[in-house]
Amino acid sequence: MATKSQELYQEAVKVIPGGVNSPVRAFGSIGGKPRFIKSAKGAYLYDEDDNCYLDFVGSWGPMILGYGHETVLNCVQEACRRGLSFGAATAAEVDMAKLVCELIPSVEMVRMVNSGTEAVMSAIRAARGFTGRDKIIKFAGCYHGHCDSLLVQAGSGVMTAGVPDSLGVPGNCTRDTLSARYNDLQTVKAHFERCGEEIAAVIVEPVAANMGVVPPIPGFLEGLRNLCDSYGALLIFDEVITGFRLAIDGAQGYYGITPDLTVLGKIIGGGMPVGAYGGRREIMELVAPCGGVYQAGTLSGNPVAMAAGIAQLTILKEHPQYYRDLNEKGDWFFERLKECVKNSGKPWQVNHVGSLGSLYFTEQKVVDYESAKTADTKVFADYCNYMLAQRFYFAPSQFEAIFLSLAHTEEMLRKTLERITIFLQKI
Ligand SMILES: *Cc1c(COP(=O)(O)O)cnc(C)c1O
Repeated sequence: MATKSQELYQEAVKVIPGGVNSPVRAFGSIGGKPRFIKSAKGAYLYDEDDNCYLDFVGSWGPMILGYGHETVLNCVQEACRRGLSFGAATAAEVDMAKLVCELIPSVEMVRMVNSGTEAVMSAIRAARGFTGRDKIIKFAGCYHGHCDSLLVQAGSGVMTAGVPDSLGVPGNCTRDTLSARYNDLQTVKAHFERCGEEIAAVIVEPVAANMGVVPPIPGFLEGLRNLCDSYGALLIFDEVITGFRLAIDGAQGYYGITPDLTVLGKIIGGGMPVGAYGGRREIMELVAPCGGVYQAGTLSGNPVAMAAGIAQLTILKEHPQYYRDLNEKGDWFFERLKECVKNSGKPWQVNHVGSLGSLYFTEQKVVDYESAKTADTKVFADYCNYMLAQRFYFAPSQFEAIFLSLAHTEEMLRKTLERITIFLQKI
């Protein structure tokens, strides 16, 4: 008999492309069908068939406090009663902007938008407006949302101007996108030496988390900062995942490197659709209506979304020990995961920074997109399906992160490791 999830999926594919509103939610890459989720609490997800899963996705990062945090929910409910949207300035937007500027010192001014994609697109526009240059360097394997100019990953090869990864993206849109190799300053330097005067910005995930988790090697972020300074280009940190996760001041605080512009998303919305971009005052003062870089949004700074975000960020700010706990939990879990792999005699790799990590089914050390791609996605599919059957919900792709939240207990993580160990011995 079909499950409710299966029935819903059959209906969904008739009216929604692929049955999902974002491709990562499809289970195609592990040869399965999506579970339709009905509710969530703490570290658990419940699907339409009332199966309960221990969750390691956390809505792809935002639910750092765990699902259904009472304070956040109360703030959202109060905001709803006052009004869902006004399309006018509100006090909550001032509170949010002050909070972000206080928590992330490199952000002197900030603009709210509705998604990480929109924030990246706008930050790139601001960088181009400020420098009067067109070219952008991005790294193979880094994801910055689906805006045209950044849909260039690795297919293009390292040293060539970008070729789009998606149908419908005109070659003109990616002509100014240069691709470099993550953790390889030489490839960045080569671009600068060839056309440094034309490069507006380098955009990077300070910890890459969209090709699995790839930490920056020592000196990499610093090297980018220096190259940008030498050539008058801006350094943009895409902290949509790392922001408010590795530390309250993000990866820039964690690694002590200051970008010119920062892109935020996910955690900043507390589960609501929010993105933000901000940075040095002189750059942000170019954004309309202050300056000539146009950017707008009917629902930007939406009062309900702001309420959720402010509530979550305030809780994080008021509990500095949460980051110690979360990072310790991450170290504990991923170091033990490494041991499990080692004890199983398998050559596989575990990467992690704090509460973000990946188990890669490859024997190569994973430091960039090339090495990430050596992972055996068939073994990953078996692993993911096995864990799902045992009610552990991991992102259905080898190239997505494992996200821990404050709601994960040692007991839960121990059980997870036990299950993974059984899988490792089985194959
Ligand atoms: C998720 C993500 C984005 C895009 O954010 P959306 O809200 O999905 O548009 C951008 N950059 C990074 C690093 C992300 O992980």
